[in-house]
Amino acid sequence: MLVDFNAALLAKYDTYGPRYTSYPTAVQFSDEFGEMDYRLELEQSNQQRTPLSLYFHIPFCKSLCFYCACAKIITNKQERTIPYLERIHAEIVRQAELVDPNREVSQLHFGGGTPTYLHDDQLAALLGEIARNFTLAPPESREFSIEIDPRAVRDTTIPLLYELGFNRISLGVQDFDPRVQAAVNRIQSVEQTFAVIDAARAAGYRSTNVDLIYGLPHQTVDSFSTTLDTVLSKRPERLAIYNYAHMPDKVKAQKLINVIDLPSPETKLAILEMTVERLQGAGYVYLGMDHFALPDDELTLAKSSGQLQRNFQGYSTYADTDLIGIGMTSIGRIHHSFSQNMREEDDYFKAIDSGALAIARGYRLSLDDQIRRDVIQALMCQNEVVYETISQRYGIDFFDYFCKEMRQLAGMAIDSLVVINPHRITVTPTGQLLLRNIAMVFDAYLDPSESQRQFSRVI
Ligand code: SF4
Repeated sequence: MLVDFNAALLAKYDTYGPRYTSYPTAVQFSDEFGEMDYRLELEQSNQQRTPLSLYFHIPFCKSLCFYCACAKIITNKQERTIPYLERIHAEIVRQAELVDPNREVSQLHFGGGTPTYLHDDQLAALLGEIARNFTLAPPESREFSIEIDPRAVRDTTIPLLYELGFNRISLGVQDFDPRVQAAVNRIQSVEQTFAVIDAARAAGYRSTNVDLIYGLPHQTVDSFSTTLDTVLSKRPERLAIYNYAHMPDKVKAQKLINVIDLPSPETKLAILEMTVERLQGAGYVYLGMDHFALPDDELTLAKSSGQLQRNFQGYSTYADTDLIGIGMTSIGRIHHSFSQNMREEDDYFKAIDSGALAIARGYRLSLDDQIRRDVIQALMCQNEVVYETISQRYGIDFFDYFCKEMRQLAGMAIDSLVVINPHRITVTPTGQLLLRNIAMVFDAYLDPSESQRQFSRVI
């Protein structure tokens, strides 16, 4: 679907809200959900034998990017990875013991931090440990992806990762403008970046994603346009264009960004408008929530066939997998629950050394949560909700159940963000950039007085 950029409506609906990589969002997680709850959910999910997704958090980075809100450990001491990996190996064994071996791992993701901070032999040992403990799906039916910092890649890394089974890479770029790079402390050349894309194509990876951020210090429409030209010259299969959320009270690193260097809200909107036009003009399809892909990419095809899913890494083609998170801060989604590992390295080490899993908190979804999750997922991924689908799945009458929400949505229909007809709600081209606002109508937990503290701006 094409995106219709309407500056007046974007300004009208500019508020704070979740990105809905999960529903309910992590704000609802609590320490009342612990290891026993997790084990029970995993037991139940084993009976359904849904395929598995594994997420590994590798937190190490050599230097601090000032915009970064990820859980990371900045260090030049490579030996710090050794005790961390010992715990990761222990957690793999412990988690795998709880999983029915007939369940295949169809999706795997290494995120961070910087996964390629690890030496090649450490990466190989880690994949070996995973393969020994879990049943991996055959290469043609799995998606194994890894986040790559082009500044932390050796000549051997990209071919080695392919040999180890990875078939997709995602590159952090953010911006090629030297002034922007200096202001966020991330100096990364075009040559370094393109060398990784070339190596991935030569090795045979299925797709390359490039991450960019708009709203960073010193960015202008012209400067970001130049970055886009450079990136598009390589025609990556996927692009994620994130909106920088400046929240220095929540993200300590962002205190190092000089607030007067940030572009004005008007400039940010103009950058977004230029970006959407440029990418659509270059033939990319808007998937929703910052993500674009080429028309023949699997994500675009999944969107057309109704298979697209939203998860903690953005969008995915693998529906109905249960997710096990391994490493500090990792989030899992098993059966009707979410769980998150300890956030601090020390706590994570202590938990693993005591023979436990490292679950710090989590959440078990009620039936109402499941219904709302499916509605929000449908809006985010298919851009429509078919009432009958939800009514049949949960034995409800959609209109009775969502009487209040449908009244609220009527205002958005007047603004042409959605079309409401007797069978479905459809997001219009004008509503595409306001998906979060539309989804927020179905969120039972939003507290407007807390939203600014908890979430980023939607635009
Ligand atoms: S953006 Fe990536 S490389 Fe930079 S500090 Fe964050 S995790 Fe590390």
